[in-house]
Amino acid sequence: MSIEQEPGNQRDLAYYRQCFKEINVNRTERGEAPYQPILLLSVIDLIAEGLIQANHIHITEELRTTFNKYRNILSPDRSFDSSLSMPFFHLQNEEHQFWHLDYKAEYYRDISSNKKLINEKIRKSIKQLKNYVNHAYIDQELFNLLQDNDSRKELVDTLVSKWFTSSEDIGEDKTEYLLKANKSFQSFIEEEIKKLKKSDKLAQKFYFRKSAAREVVFGKAVVGIYDYKCAFCRLKVSNSLNQNIVDGAHIEPFAISFNNEITNGISLCKNHHWAFDKGWFSLTDNYKIIITTDLQEESPHTRKMKDFHGEDILLPDTKKYDPGKYYPSRESLKWHRKKWRFQL
Ligand SMILES: [Zn+2]
Repeated sequence: MSIEQEPGNQRDLAYYRQCFKEINVNRTERGEAPYQPILLLSVIDLIAEGLIQANHIHITEELRTTFNKYRNILSPDRSFDSSLSMPFFHLQNEEHQFWHLDYKAEYYRDISSNKKLINEKIRKSIKQLKNYVNHAYIDQELFNLLQDNDSRKELVDTLVSKWFTSSEDIGEDKTEYLLKANKSFQSFIEEEIKKLKKSDKLAQKFYFRKSAAREVVFGKAVVGIYDYKCAFCRLKVSNSLNQNIVDGAHIEPFAISFNNEITNGISLCKNHHWAFDKGWFSLTDNYKIIITTDLQEESPHTRKMKDFHGEDILLPDTKKYDPGKYYPSRESLKWHRKKWRFQL
């Protein structure tokens, strides 16, 4: 499916997913330098957190910090020239223009003598970028889509799938790459925790702000490990857009545990994810399903949940991954059973 074939080029979710896939990133002999996707991920986080409220993307300290964090985690080859100014300036030149710059009067005054030189200056320095540019703004249609949690997730998913799981360059399996990226995120969190004083809860809250990319990487790595199947009922459904019916669910919520290790995750279909989060079932230390006694069920076409009581869940394939390495951790399972008062 290409943009040209779509009727009317409607600026909807499908259109922007396509735009995000077709970003023209810098290619060097060391591979792709995906700084425009990283900038977009950063902007999306700030929108999600309410730090960008109107469609004016200013060059703020929060944007720089978020950009640098993502750059270090997702694109660790730091030998690339990777200041925020470069993608901020270049993203406007995309074929499908959705990123625009609002220039100051000084820009129009100075480019009359030498446009190339001025553009080069802006590209290379945040200071010059600020001197010449008020702010960036995106298509209003895109900005509106980014206000919605589900569309935001889909757009982040598109960026992560396209730009941060490519296997050709690195000769790696997609899930292996995600596992690595997830590990980098987790190491970053652990480093930050070490830096913070234990008592400083406010600082923690600030540091562990929402990160859509971190959540998407975690979710995709977890479901990849389970071969996109529900560990409870084995359901596996996907489509050509790579959407699938399972979620990489946290066993102990991230907001409580700050734990994004794969072993704090389990792949569950939407129904069983919801049921797990509500404590309708839990798991024993030997990965057997325990169902709450409080369910009234009718299920004429599929097995009742109750009938799964005592059965084994699906675990990651031991031919691909070391047995036990990515199994749900006993600690996380214990937390879940305690929270929902399951007695063994
Ligand atoms: Zn299921």
